[in-house]
Parts: sequence; C-alpha cells; structure tokens
Amino acid sequence: MLIVQKYGGSSVGSVERIQSVAQRVLKTAQDHQVVVVVSAMGKTTDQLVSLAQQISATPNRREMDMLLSTGEQVSIALLSMALQELGQPAISLTGAQVGIVTEAEHTRARILSIETQRMERHLNQGQVVVVAGFQGVSSQDDLEITTLGRGGSDTSAVALAAALKADVCEIYTDVPGILTTDPRLVPNAQLMAEITCDEMLELASLGAKVLHPRAVEIARNYGVSLVVRSSWTDDPGTKVIAPKPQPRPLEGLELARPVDGVEFDTNQAAVSLLRIPDRPGIAAKLFGGIAVQNLDVDLIIQSIHEGNSNDITFTVERDYFTKAIAVADALLPALGKPNHSDLGNAEVTGDDTPIAKVSIVGAGMIGRPKVASQMFNTLAEAGINIQMISTSEVKVSCVIAAEDCQQAVTALCQSFEISSDCKITSNFELEKPPVDPSLPPVRGVALDIKQARLAIRHIPDRPGMAAKIFSILADHNISVDMIIQSQRCHQINGILARDIAFTVAQGDADEAEKILTQASSELGYSEIIVNKSIAKVSVVGSGMIHHPGVAAKMFEALANRNINILMIATSEIKISCLVDEDQGVEALKAVHEIFELSGDKTFIVPERAPVA
Ligand code: ADP
Ligand code: ASP
Ligand code: MG
Repeated sequence: MLIVQKYGGSSVGSVERIQSVAQRVLKTAQDHQVVVVVSAMGKTTDQLVSLAQQISATPNRREMDMLLSTGEQVSIALLSMALQELGQPAISLTGAQVGIVTEAEHTRARILSIETQRMERHLNQGQVVVVAGFQGVSSQDDLEITTLGRGGSDTSAVALAAALKADVCEIYTDVPGILTTDPRLVPNAQLMAEITCDEMLELASLGAKVLHPRAVEIARNYGVSLVVRSSWTDDPGTKVIAPKPQPRPLEGLELARPVDGVEFDTNQAAVSLLRIPDRPGIAAKLFGGIAVQNLDVDLIIQSIHEGNSNDITFTVERDYFTKAIAVADALLPALGKPNHSDLGNAEVTGDDTPIAKVSIVGAGMIGRPKVASQMFNTLAEAGINIQMISTSEVKVSCVIAAEDCQQAVTALCQSFEISSDCKITSNFELEKPPVDPSLPPVRGVALDIKQARLAIRHIPDRPGMAAKIFSILADHNISVDMIIQSQRCHQINGILARDIAFTVAQGDADEAEKILTQASSELGYSEIIVNKSIAKVSVVGSGMIHHPGVAAKMFEALANRNINILMIATSEIKISCLVDEDQGVEALKAVHEIFELSGDKTFIVPERAPVA
C-alpha cells in the first residue's frame, strides 16, 4: 500500500515538530510505502515574501519563485535527516528532481505532468521519499523553477497521489480536519467526518485555507481518496469524498478539460420583485413565504441596488409559478414606497414564457477566467441572448429563452468538447445526488473578505455583451468569482439595458475598473461602480436541494442582526450573500448559529510562531 502524507507549515514549524513528524512517518513506513510532501517551516514563506517586498514593491516573478522555493527545500532536508536519525532510510527531492513539470507561469503555475520512475525506484529500495511541496519545474529547455501559488503544497500532494496511484493522500494540519467554519472566527465550529468534493470546492473561497481548491479539483477528477487530519493526534479527521471519476489521462494533469458536463432545465419560470426598498429583512420575508408554501426555489439573484431600491429574482418549477407570484404579491403592501420619488412603487413581474437554464459544470473553473467568458462567447456566437447569469465555484448558469435551449446545449457541448459519452443532463434525468438524510442541509459556512464588487450599469441588452466584458477581464488574467445578471431591464434612451455585477480579488479591482472604463464607449454602458469593502458569506451543503427554506433561514439570520444584503447568488448546493465588510464576521457567526452548526467543543488554534 502506498500512502502520500502532506505536512503543512505549522506541522513542521520547529525542530521538535519535524522530529515528531518523523516519528509519525516512521510508524507508517513500517507497513507501507510512504511519500511525504512538506511545506516550508512555520511562517517562512511569509517572511520570504516580506524580504522581497523590502527590496521591491513589484518583485520579478521568476526571482520570487527562486526565493520562495527555498522554504520547502529547508524542510525536506531536515525531515530526511530526522528520519535517517531514527534509522529510517529517506531521501529528499525538490520538485525539479522528482519531475513535477508545470507551465512556465511563475508564482501560479499549474502542474502538467509528474514523472514517477525516480520516486518508484527509491520506494522500491525501502526509502521514504520526501518531496518539496508548492514547487515544480517548467517543461521548457531552461528548466525554470516555478511555484504553484500560495497554499500550493496540498495541490502537490494530491497530484503526486494521482500520478503514483496512491491508496490514500493524507493532509496533516493544525486543525482536527474540516470544520463547519474557520475555528479562528467561530471557536465552537464542529468537525465533519465527511464532505463531498463538490461541497469542499464550493467552500473553497475560505476552505482554500484548510485545503487548496486545486487539490480538491485533482482529487475529484482522478478519484484520489483524500483525508484531512490533525498532526498532533491520531483522530481520523475528515474524509473528502470524490465521485467515481471519468477516465482521464495524467498528461496535462491540471490543464485537462475544465468543464466536464453541460446541464439544462427547461421547466423553470422566473419571478422578480423590482424596486423593493433596500433594507434588511425583505429577502427573509419573501423566501420565508415561499418556504411556508414549500416551493422549491432554484436560482436566487439579487443584484446591485439603484439609489435605495433593490431587485430580487428567483426561479421556480413552472408548476409553482402562480403560487410564487401570489407569495410575492402578498408582500407588496408591507413594503411601502421607497423614499426616493422617481423610483416609483415596488412591483412584482413574472411571465411564464418558458425559460431555460443552461449550465456548464466542472471543477476546473476556479482561477480560470477564460471558462466563463468562453460560455458567454459561445452563446453570443449562436445569437442567443442571456437573460440572467449566476455563478458558483463549480458552475456557471445562464437563463435564456426556452426555444434557444437545444441550440445552446449543442453549441456548448461543441465548444467545451463534451462528447455524448460525457455528461449532458436535462432536468428530466438530472440525478439528484444521494444525500445522507441524517446530515443537515447546510454543512459548512464560509467568509471571504478579500473580494471587491464591481457593478456595470446599463449594458445594452443584446447577445454578446457578457461575452465581451468577461473576455476583456480574462485577457488580463483577472479571475471573476461571483457573477450576477438579473432580470430587470431599463429603458435608456430608447434602448433596453441591464446591469451586471461581479466580484474579483481586491487586488484586481483597480485594474478591472480601468480596463472596463476604457471599453465603456465601445460597449455602450454608462457607469462602473466599485465597492471594496464587502464580505461574502456562503452556506454550502448537498442536502439543500431537498430542503426548501434554507435560503429563507439564512436571510432571516442576517435580518435578525439587522445586516443588509447587498447581493445574492445561488447554485444548487450553495447560497452566497454579499454584506458590508464590517459585518462579515457577525454575519458568519449568525448564519453558523441559525443552522445549529456549533458543537460543544471549542477549538483554539495556536498562532503560528515565526521561525527563529
Ligand atoms: P497548513 O499550513 O497545514 O497548510 P493552513 O493554515 O494552510 O495549514 O490551513 C489550516 C487553517 O485553515 C486552520 O488553522 C484554520 O484557521 C483555517 N480554516 C479555514 N476554514 C476552515 C475550516 N472550514 N475548517 C478547518 N480549518 C479552516
Ligand atoms: N509554503 C507555501 C505557502 O506558504 C505553500 C504551502 O504552505 O502550502 O504558501
Ligand atoms: Mg495550507
């Protein structure tokens, strides 16, 4: 049996810790072949970054890789020595020595392939192989040292496990496993025994901390059995469950098809509440009413507000349309007039002209801005207008006219090379994933305070606009997280126009604003609004598919604390709300509490000491 073990920075933060890791490895090596992946000691990587910044505000990325890769080189050598001291033969190898071949993209390289011969030779000689995480070597003649991006040693470990066809990959860290949320923010967060890869990917915005999302992506694509455990105890930790993988080559490991399925649903209708006052509690009331009627809501979208009014749009199965309209209508008298004279009254709109939702699905979209823009481009080239957009980590969904659905699915399958033996699913055959009924509908909660929101106002309503906007961003390598386009159309100088809002990493916000402003006259939109002080709170769980009312409960938790929701986006297994940055932690705590995720144990995570 072959086991890959990865030890994070805190697990190898001192000589004593390296020695205790060596003890654990020794124990495993008595019955198994072991490949160990290690991170740099403690906060070494942060310290190296800070050294570079003292010399240059924008250090050369090649030199950054040269610098940062040294951190892991220290820990592999020390761990090998510690193993040898215990009488266990071991050898340390850098990423280049193993043959972890990556693209030449410095500081954010993706793994292309991994050579296994040398590792296998050492393993067969009874040695433990200790590999430097987070680094690789470019395939070009120059053999440049590359790094995978911060937190990337998880990705090295899972990629090695996939390449070596290891029986299990164990990630050892400073928490007992994956918890319902970050224990540094909510100390009574609870340990989960299991989580699916899709749930983990949706939690990625913050789960990224405990597990690099690209590691989950590889585990999902190659069916690696993955466990997250504590370095300090023998407790079993959390299993990250991969679905049965479709066969794929190990070549192009991290670059293989980012999209592995197309889904469509032609049985939906949309209801919108327009110009409702922008104050806490309205979404809670609306979806509370919907939950009382037991109507299954699919997409929920709340886009940017105009003055002090908001729009919320949601979709339901067509059979529920009339009931859903009635619930929304019943809410109107309670809303009152927004106190802005030219906004007029709140209004419910909805027609049951058939609409269709088409989605692309795949773990490979994270950090690849070109995927969403390719979807929008494909629809544009087919002359199909997009009425609504909602995205999550593993899915981009567009609402279009039902009559365009067949054409859209064909075009998307062609564009993303989804052949008939891969996944094309309609709502009629869409298998709802089997969910353990004993599990709560919400598994985990995450907070991301590192994003900024951009809103583009009054984009002409014609095919190709989203495609153009997101292609511009993708060309500048700006990754977009949450994209929302809502139903509402404005009449601007006789032209129909819509708004699109999306989030990007805070560090990319200024550049995104600049390049989109440059394109504004060509594309014909009027205004770009940037808000950097936002927080994104998300709830995730496969069980919410079968539980109407999860959204209502989340909104209620926020309303109870008087927290205003700035934007809403959903996927089947996730609901995300943007709130003011100052209220992020409070919102996280409120949501964690209302879903009763807290346990009776408290986790105090020790601060990571700098390496002396
Ligand atoms: P390592 O150095 O071992 O890679 P990281 O610091 O990268 O460790 O990741 C572990 C940290 O992730 C924990 O200390 C915790 O603060 C944070 N974290 C965030 N969300 C979660 C979560 N849902 N469950 C567990 N830990 C989490
Ligand atoms: N040492 C690297 C970092 O701090 C990689 C890792 O720890 O996963 O980002
Ligand atoms: Mg980590």
